[in-house]
Parts: sequence; structure tokens; C-alpha cells
Amino acid sequence: MPDTNLAVENHAHSLEQKFVQLFGESPRIYQAPGRVNLIGEHTDYNDGFVMPAAIGFHTRVFIAPRPDRKLVIRSENYSEQVEFDLDHLPATRAGHWSDYVIGVAEMLARSGKKLSGANLLVYGDVPLGAGLSSSASIEVAAGYALLDSAYRALDQANPGRTKPEGNPIDRTKLALLCQKAENDFVGARCGIMDQFIASHGKRGRALLLDCRSLEYRLLPLPDDAALAICNTMVKHSHAQGADNQRRAECEAGVRILSKHLPNVRALRDVTTEDLEAYGSELPEIVMRRCRHVIGEDARVLQAAEALSTGDLQAFGKLMLESHRSLRDDYEVSCAELDLMVELAKQVEGVYGVRMTGGGFGGCTVALVQAGHVEAFRRTVGEGYERATGCKPEIYVCTAADGVGEVA
Ligand code: ADP
Ligand code: MG
Repeated sequence: MPDTNLAVENHAHSLEQKFVQLFGESPRIYQAPGRVNLIGEHTDYNDGFVMPAAIGFHTRVFIAPRPDRKLVIRSENYSEQVEFDLDHLPATRAGHWSDYVIGVAEMLARSGKKLSGANLLVYGDVPLGAGLSSSASIEVAAGYALLDSAYRALDQANPGRTKPEGNPIDRTKLALLCQKAENDFVGARCGIMDQFIASHGKRGRALLLDCRSLEYRLLPLPDDAALAICNTMVKHSHAQGADNQRRAECEAGVRILSKHLPNVRALRDVTTEDLEAYGSELPEIVMRRCRHVIGEDARVLQAAEALSTGDLQAFGKLMLESHRSLRDDYEVSCAELDLMVELAKQVEGVYGVRMTGGGFGGCTVALVQAGHVEAFRRTVGEGYERATGCKPEIYVCTAADGVGEVA
């Protein structure tokens, strides 16, 4: 795999210099990763299981305290700088990239955190809007940076204060506040997965998350297996409407099934056997939607088992089954995603591949033996371009750490 670390480090160094030029001080640096969901699609809003991994693409926040109560935020991706007063943060969105940072500051403040004035420089190499959750990565990186700065300011103002043991930042609470910022401030409906993995991700690990209880387990992804994410470069416009319809169909399934199974609150509570017993009472489409969700939850748990025993072949098979179910039962794939999956399946060294994210465009994810990554890039990239006339972006990485300070 080509080592991009050097380029990233050089760029980070020049951003640090830029920060000094802009704000006259050396910053502390924090980063949070984007993510890819390996298996468990459309299960989150059914209270089920997902299995994302943090990816080696990040949003970095360079930050230094200010003596006043201002937040000055510059995004290097947009070459734009904005300024806010911490004591008069806007209560609603402006439809601007800064919403993602201000929303988090506002939610932290509402939760009782006393933030302090700061200068921030933001830069991300997570592709924006590609479905790899640059949004959660900017939220979580900014939230962590703002909190850590506030704690440091507190320490400086009260050098004698008795500090609690360990890192005072609770990663799960941070993830929940960032999700709230995206839901209530930015105004985008999203589950907890993206912010949770950006907060809790671990290098070389996938994360099995129970979206109901927020219990999670980290599972090994061997170093010699790469994540190859292929961007179809399309996003079909009916995605939003179809998404709402799928949610409604799942709710309809729960309503009917819970007449027989009073303990069923969400499709998470329905087993394959339950569906066999009572599925005939569901309209045909609802039956297929439920079959996807219930089967997908089971596949995520089997996939966790496969990773814990190091069985990547079994894991890959489950990825392929997940894709088939999303395509045929849940009907959220599209020609471009199916083509990308078919092309990837042919390449030697591919354990498994599936669409990832909500569907109707966006990305596929494949688990590929490291030695076959270059052939994968070539074969899939050329094949997709030949068939569609559109050059796909292909991002290759391994599982990365969640949010933290960059040494
Ligand atoms: P995704 O999360 O799939 O990348 P979203 O539409 O949810 O797509 O989030 C992308 C938005 O997040 C961008 O349009 C921008 O407003 C904001 N954002 C992400 N990264 C940055 C950044 N480095 N600088 C400024 N804004 C960012
Ligand atoms: Mg997003």
C-alpha cells in the first residue's frame, strides 16, 4: 500500500505554521476519523446492530485559547473564517459548514460545559459528502478540542484544583452530544453510529455496536486486510424519500408483529423464527423489508463471531449476503453500486464486498488482502470507468483510532 503518511504529516506541519501566522500562537492538534460501515445496514433505526470501523482519513482541529469569549473558526477546506460570541451562540443553523462546529459548542454549553474562547483551524481529508461521515469527524474532533481546551483553561485559572483521575472526557457522552448537534442543530437525521465510531474507534479493530444499549465490542481486523472503499460518484435524488418510506415500512412491520409478540418494540426484537411464524400476515413488501433487517442483525452478530475467530472468509461471505439482501429485499441498491460490487468480486484477494451507507449511490466497501490492493484499484477503477464513463474514487486504508490529541 502506498504510504500517504508522509504527505499528511507535511501538510499538518504547514497547517501548524499557518495557524501560527494567523493567530500568533502554537496550537494543540486534535483529530477524529471518518468511518465505513462494514456490515449492519439500515439496522440502526431498528434498534439493531452495526459494525463500523474508523478509517485512516481524518478531520484535524488546530486550537489555541483566546483571552476573550470569542470562537474564531477557519476551515482550510473552504478557505473561510467565521467568528462567534460564546455568550450569544446562534440557537439555529445558518446552512453553513460552521453549523457543525457551532452546533457542537451549543450542545456542550446546554449540557452544562463551560467553554472558553479559542481560535480553531479545521482541515479534513475525509471526502466531503461521500458517505464516509466527514460530518461526524468534524463534530467529534471539534467537540473534543473544545472540551480539552476548556479543561486546560480551568486548570490554568485554578492551579491548585483537585482533578478527577484519568481523562475527564466521556467519549460516549461526547458522541451523543455530537449526534444531538447534527439532529437538532444542523437538522440532519442520523443515528448514533457515526459519532460513536469517531469517538471510540481503535486501530486495527472493527466495532460491534448495539444501537439500543450502546454496548460495544472491539474486534480484530488483521493488518494484512485492507479496507477498499469505492465511490460510485453518484447519489440518486430519490434517496431521501425512499429512506423515509423504508422506515415507515419497518414501523408497519413492528405494529403488526407486536400484536402477536407483545414484547416487540422494534425489529431488533423479532427473530427469524418469529418472522416465519407470523410473516404471512405482513404485506409482501413489508415482509421483505423485515426479512432484510432481521437477517442483517443476525449477520452482524455472525460477522463479529467470524472476526473474533479470525475467519475472514466467513466475514466476506456475510458481506456478500448483506449486499444481496439490501439489493433484493430492502431495495436500496442501484445499478452503479451493483456494478461496483460485481467488479470487486472478480478480483483475487477480495474476501467480501457490499454497498455501504444508506444506498442509491455513495460507496461500496471491500475487505481485500493487502497484497492485492493495487490490482484491485486498477481492475475496479478501469472496469467502472469503462462501463459508466465515470472515474470512481477509491480510498484504501486500514482501521484507525478514534478521536484524540495528535502528539
Ligand atoms: P458526509 O458526512 O457523508 O461527509 P455530510 O453532508 O453529512 O456528508 O457532511 C458534510 C458537511 O460537513 C460538509 O458539507 C461541511 O458542511 C461539513 N464539513 C465536513 N468536514 C468539514 C471541514 N473540514 N471543514 C468545514 N466543514 C466540514
Ligand atoms: Mg454525514
